[in-house]
Amino acid sequence: MGWLDGNVAIVTGGESGIGRAVVLRYLDEGAAGVVVVDRNADGLAALKAKHPKKIATVAGDVRDYATHAQAVALALKTFGKLDTLVGNAGVFDFHRPLKGYTPEMLAATFEEIFAINLRGYLYAAHAAHEALIASQGCMIFTASVASLHAGGGGPLYTASKHAVAGLIRQLAAEFAPDVRVNGVGPGGTLTNLSGTASLGHDNRHMSDKRAEAAERIGNAVPLRFAQEPEDHAGLYVLLASRANARAVTGEILMSDGGIGIRPL
Ligand code: NAD
Repeated sequence: MGWLDGNVAIVTGGESGIGRAVVLRYLDEGAAGVVVVDRNADGLAALKAKHPKKIATVAGDVRDYATHAQAVALALKTFGKLDTLVGNAGVFDFHRPLKGYTPEMLAATFEEIFAINLRGYLYAAHAAHEALIASQGCMIFTASVASLHAGGGGPLYTASKHAVAGLIRQLAAEFAPDVRVNGVGPGGTLTNLSGTASLGHDNRHMSDKRAEAAERIGNAVPLRFAQEPEDHAGLYVLLASRANARAVTGEILMSDGGIGIRPL
C-alpha cells in the first residue's frame, strides 16, 4: 500500500528535474494517474512511454491559461477526478544583479520570470480549484530557498519566489476548509533549471557544469551536499497525503540542506 493510493495529480514542469522526480514518486506511492504539463513535448512523450496508462500529458506553456484548463479537463476525463495540483514549472535568473540590466532587459526579464514563476501558478490554481474543492484535495507549489532568504537568485527570481510564499499563504486562507495549500522550498538542486530567453539564457542550465555546481552548492549549506531532485520528492508525497498531512496548510517545508541554521 502506498501513501497516495488512487490519487490523481497534475504536475507542471513535470518532464524534468524536481517535477519529474515528483511524478515518478507519486506513481511509486500508488497514484492512479498523473497529468504532466511541460513545454518540452519530446521529453513528455518519452516520460509517458514509461507509464503509458498512468501518465497523460499536456505539451504547452504555463503562461497560457488554456494549458491549465486542458490539464484539468484531461485529468477529469482520463482519471475521473483531481486530488493534487503541483505547480512547479519555473525559470531562473542566474543571480543577475539589478545593476546588470538595461531598462529594456529588465522589463522583458521581469515579464518572463513573473509570467512563468508566478502567473503560471495562479493560472494553475484557478483552473484546478473547482475540481480540488470537489475532491477536498490540495495544492502544492515549488517555492525555493529564495522564497525566504536573499542570495538564492538575483532580484527578479528572489522576488518571484517570495511572491510564491505569499501566494501559498493567501490561497491557503481562501480555500480553507476545502483545499489545503502548501509549498516545498528546495535549496540548490542539480537539475536542468534554465535561464530566461529574455537574457539569452534559455539554453543555460543550473547543472551545466555539474561537478562545479555540486561543489559550490554543497559547500554553501550546513548539510554539505548538493541536493538531487529525488531529495525533495518525499515532501510532495507527505503534503499530498490526506492521511498524513490533513492538518497542514499555508506551510512551506524547506528542503535546503539547512540554510536556516547557517551561522551568521
Ligand atoms: P528543470 O528545468 O529541471 O524543470 C523545470 C521544468 O519546467 C522543465 O521541464 C521545463 O521545460 C519546464 N518549464 C519551464 N518553463 C516552462 C513554461 N513556460 N511552460 C511549461 N513548462 C515550462 O528545473 P527544476 O530545478 O526541477 O525546477 C523546478 C522548480 O524548482 C522551479 O520552480 C524552480 O524555480 C524550483 N527550484 C529549483 C531549484 C534548483 O536549484 N534547481 C531550487 C529551488 C527551487
